[in-house]
Amino acid sequence: MAQIRYPFLDLADVNAPYMGELQAAAARVVVSGRYVGGSECEAFEAELAAMTGTRFAVGVSNGLDALRLILRAYVGMGEMVPGDEILVPANTYVASVLAISDAGLRPVLVDADLSTLNMDTSLLRGAVTPRTRGIMAVHLYGRVVWNEELEAVAREFGLKVIEDNAQAIGAKWRGRMTGSLGDAAAFSFYPTKNVGALGDAGAVTTSDERLARAVRALANYGSDRRYHNIYRGFNCRLDPLQAAFLRVKLPHTAEENERRRQLARIYLGAVLSSDALMLPELPADPEEHVFHQFVVLAADRQSLETHLRDNGVGYDIHYATPPHRQPCYEADFRGCSFPVTERVASGCLSLPITRTTTPADAAEIASILAAYNG
Ligand SMILES: *Cc1c(COP(=O)(O)O)cnc(C)c1O
Repeated sequence: MAQIRYPFLDLADVNAPYMGELQAAAARVVVSGRYVGGSECEAFEAELAAMTGTRFAVGVSNGLDALRLILRAYVGMGEMVPGDEILVPANTYVASVLAISDAGLRPVLVDADLSTLNMDTSLLRGAVTPRTRGIMAVHLYGRVVWNEELEAVAREFGLKVIEDNAQAIGAKWRGRMTGSLGDAAAFSFYPTKNVGALGDAGAVTTSDERLARAVRALANYGSDRRYHNIYRGFNCRLDPLQAAFLRVKLPHTAEENERRRQLARIYLGAVLSSDALMLPELPADPEEHVFHQFVVLAADRQSLETHLRDNGVGYDIHYATPPHRQPCYEADFRGCSFPVTERVASGCLSLPITRTTTPADAAEIASILAAYNG
């Protein structure tokens, strides 16, 4: 096996350019004496809300908790009751679905669109039942899933739209940021995400004040003020050390996303889609894609993996097993089939697209891919 010349991802290298500022941020927290909550968390929340264009941001422990808290808040507020249905893409990371079942709600899976790998919004209307209360709009791989069809279905049936924005921070639809398009959104700052903390971190954004209050209370033992519990809550607070780190990285969101787009353009300019290898499409408006992953679909993934390994190209797979095929959901989705999602699961492969991949590396990787495809 050849040595890896083009690593898929190296987190220390990703953070190296920010080293001095990250060290200063950590020192600020140590000196402050505030190790839970406090001004770093408040400042980060204000900065994230301003960037996203929402009235509120609530820092939380991670992306899954952000999704769970939104849905638990809707249940706590009486907007949803256990057994209600939430439409969610079949092609997503399992966390999107876990949050729904965690709140006692029923995930109703919607198959993917092969041209975007996102939820096929033309299937939404047919999936609505009298119990449907919400749509979880997952901007998978950094590509915006929003469109008029989704908006129309949500409006017509009075559905809440919860964005899973874990992979798409900084993406825009018609000039509006993801995270401000729906009723509420969940962000993840897991270290591998486009804006990554140095540990677990997440946030909820919304312009609904009642929801923001409920999420904040639920994340803090269900308490709306000290020693007064309106919900049976949790401890899902954002760590101020991570907030301080994120304040260093958040202002660079657009620039980091633009780097990813630049690498995507190099791949797309040098390799053509074929039966053996399908490349993603750039949306008409490039701002609609922040390329959290650059996912190709191979007819024979094993042979592509061998070719990449032989040529020293790192890669990853997102995701080999979709949620409906996970052991924990076996009973819920037995006999269900989502053909596009299953095709994605069997053929998908993610190429290097982080800041440690240089444009020259991407050109090399592209010619290695073109040779595979030739
Ligand atoms: C990463 C991710 C999550 C979960 O975020 P964590 O911070 O890892 O809990 C949820 N949904 C999607 C689509 C993700 O990629």
